Amino acid sequence: MARGQLYIISAPSGAGKTSLVSALLKEDKLAQVSISHTTRQVRPGEQDGVNYFFISREEFLAQAQAGDFLEHAEVFGNFYGTSQVWVESTLAKGVDVILEIDWQGAQQVRKLRPEAKSIFILPPSLEALQQRLESRGQDSAEVIQRRLQEAANEISHYPEYDYLVFNDDFDHALADLKSVFRAERLRLSVQQVRFEAELRGMLSSQSS
Ligand code: 5GP
Repeated sequence: MARGQLYIISAPSGAGKTSLVSALLKEDKLAQVSISHTTRQVRPGEQDGVNYFFISREEFLAQAQAGDFLEHAEVFGNFYGTSQVWVESTLAKGVDVILEIDWQGAQQVRKLRPEAKSIFILPPSLEALQQRLESRGQDSAEVIQRRLQEAANEISHYPEYDYLVFNDDFDHALADLKSVFRAERLRLSVQQVRFEAELRGMLSSQSS
């Protein structure tokens, strides 16, 4: 069995990354998203163990110290980290893993796992991003302003990614995302393992 493929997906907050990833996973049973650990407050509608594992700063720092995280970073004054063990065991089962992480985490993962493929999701404009953040109704005006500044910073890192998906239309962006996953699964190294018996059969019949 081939190991799963590791994907990094980054976007400024409000660009629609989480909705796109959940829509992708509804149809795609060969991939799973990593649930990060965070020290930020739970937002309305969020659930521990579903959206994030919500932990204290002390717990986070102890886990980071123990080497539990594949990557970790401070974003908007809160810590976020990806479980090393979960990612490794899931990839070993042949399941593709998606990391929804920021550019700092993406840089760390690329260094450790150069085979990871990274995708950046762009909003149509900063104005559209502002509207989405406001309509989400989860953050105060001050937080939204800070998030817009952070968004511009996040966007400045787009050239570090392998793929760029422009989310001006949800269905179109979803189709683009699916195409990336589909093309990655057609890579020779993946297909060779999947169709090993067929390939062997064809080659042996040729030589007999
Ligand atoms: P939010 O708090 O809005 O869910 O996420 C804020 C930012 O943190 C987003 O850019 C998101 O991609 C990033 N983030 C979420 N989980 C992780 C993680 O495990 N590691 C890193 N480096 N960033 C994360």
